[in-house]
Amino acid sequence: MGKSGNPKGRAKKGLVSGRLEQMDIQAIRRALMRWYVKHRRPLPWRETLDPYRIWVSEIMLQQTQVATVIAYYQRFLTAFPDIRTLARADLEAVLKLWEGLGYYARARNFHRAANLVVNDFGGKIPDDPAAFIALPGVGDYINAAVSSIAFGRPLAVVDGNVKRVLARLFEIQAPVNAAASYPMFKATAAELLDQNDPGAFNQAVMELGALVCKPSTPDCGGCPVNSWCRAFGHDRVGVFPVKLKKAPVPHHPMAVGVVFKGDRVIIVRRPEDAMLGGLWEFPGDRMRVKETAEAACVRILSEQLGLAVRVKSRLAQVRHAYTHFKITADVFVCAWVSGRVRRNGPTDHRWVALSELKKYPFPKSNHKFISELTKPRMPSNDKN
Ligand code: SF4
Repeated sequence: MGKSGNPKGRAKKGLVSGRLEQMDIQAIRRALMRWYVKHRRPLPWRETLDPYRIWVSEIMLQQTQVATVIAYYQRFLTAFPDIRTLARADLEAVLKLWEGLGYYARARNFHRAANLVVNDFGGKIPDDPAAFIALPGVGDYINAAVSSIAFGRPLAVVDGNVKRVLARLFEIQAPVNAAASYPMFKATAAELLDQNDPGAFNQAVMELGALVCKPSTPDCGGCPVNSWCRAFGHDRVGVFPVKLKKAPVPHHPMAVGVVFKGDRVIIVRRPEDAMLGGLWEFPGDRMRVKETAEAACVRILSEQLGLAVRVKSRLAQVRHAYTHFKITADVFVCAWVSGRVRRNGPTDHRWVALSELKKYPFPKSNHKFISELTKPRMPSNDKN
């Protein structure tokens, strides 16, 4: 006996082969593939085997709904139709096209990766998963998705849809939202993968999760794999997937200043390695405990930019939810009083006319009040 207690020479069975006969595994694969061919949505990235286009789509789809991604995908490819065009572009132009999609590290990493592909691989996206995964922003999911769909490599994808389908199909007790469960879901997906057409099979499982095995309203009656689904067979679909309770999301009150000097306002650029890195924004930060929003605004302008300002009026209060925290920002119109800009935090700044704001990429939280700002009634000139 080995350390694990298994008799020597007998291979340890995985979750799939431990619960199903080979015949059933083959039957599941066939049923899924048949269903996929018939029901798959005609999405633009499914019309191509160009690894660059597939890579673009998978990066966008990683954190964003299909319906939102389609327009962004098309605009992005119109501006950057191939990897060399993307590599040559300014990061700011890339971020401008990403504006509103969120998770901007995806765009920054993709831009860096495009430059590496051009410089180190002669512009050819590596078809070797070990080389591809070494590129910035390419994690396990992107590697498996692009390598399987574009290059036919037998790597199984694991995303939220796949985990939900597997959890129900095999009654997996491990919580889908715990990092420790990932290797087990990965191994199960790999075992189920159809090695003959891994790209289509991966997409079939994800599509089943998106269209049939939905989070709260699965259509088990119309599901192509319901004959093998343990949760359905045991009438326990509602029990799976098991999830850990999430910790409450912290909330941060913030103060933001729209500082006018003549008819121009100051905007600042966030450091590239920070959250929302490379984007422009109106200067702002978290408030201190017991500090009023107005006082915080004056302090922040002084600390971040060395400017003395006078708060004139409240422009808006905006709320925004990020993945790990929420903010409520009090936004004030301020008048510049004195001081030359000395940056402490931001990597760049500009004094711009309101009509120029649309040229810069801003985070969504800023867009929530920029529309207010550009309404005609706003004061735009203060010589005090
Ligand atoms: Fe999901 Fe229901 Fe199909 Fe099972 S039978 S995989 S729970 S849709």
